[in-house]
Amino acid sequence: MSIQDNINNIKKVLKENITLIAVSKTRSLDEMEEAYNSGLRDFGENKVQEFTDKYEPFHKDVRWHIIGHLQTNKVKYIVGKVFLIQSLDSVRLLKEIEKQYAKAGITANTLIEINIGREENKTGLLLENLEELISEVEKCNNVKVSGIMTVIPIGNEDKCREYFKQVKNVFDSLAKRQFNNINMQYLSMGMTGDFKIAADEGSNMVRIGEGIFGKRIYNNQKVNK
Ligand SMILES: *Cc1c(COP(=O)(O)O)cnc(C)c1O
Repeated sequence: MSIQDNINNIKKVLKENITLIAVSKTRSLDEMEEAYNSGLRDFGENKVQEFTDKYEPFHKDVRWHIIGHLQTNKVKYIVGKVFLIQSLDSVRLLKEIEKQYAKAGITANTLIEINIGREENKTGLLLENLEELISEVEKCNNVKVSGIMTVIPIGNEDKCREYFKQVKNVFDSLAKRQFNNINMQYLSMGMTGDFKIAADEGSNMVRIGEGIFGKRIYNNQKVNK
């Protein structure tokens, strides 16, 4: 099936209010162009270098999402270029984003990434550190938090559902409270293998790579410049 067919099939099962992000890591600009021509305007990248390579040559009316772990020394390269930094997961990173965006005189929009499965090989904030991060966000002048992102552990449907429910609960409980700089708008959860379950459980932003572009082949980065 073509990229366009894949996108149309995914859109059929997603409700109107769910944003579909095309996760374009490792994909060529030509493949991304097909997704663009199918109407997608949200693109997600997990590496800053690959993102900056694609940013210049690609369409200017897209919303870029940084979805992978963001090293503090890379923040300066993305300032002013991304719609959402979805991987805010530490006070240290928050402070660097605040510093770099303040320098540019603009505001960063972020999602807090939660490591709900407490997996040691994954990045993302552990729940017990959430309140500390929030209190630091409240002090910022150049960073806003617009919701939560999560990548859940691999597991069967029941397990997935349980993790998504937990994250939705965190999202809802924060949405009920009043914070400076925090507005719970986006709940970014669900990937190729589990986006239907995520959508059932209240996600309003899904990040899909293989389901759109086909299987990823690593070490074969094809950014055509
Ligand atoms: C790669 C990636 C995705 C997309 O994964 P697929 O299984 O290809 O849909 C979504 N979110 C994050 C954070 C990723 O790194």
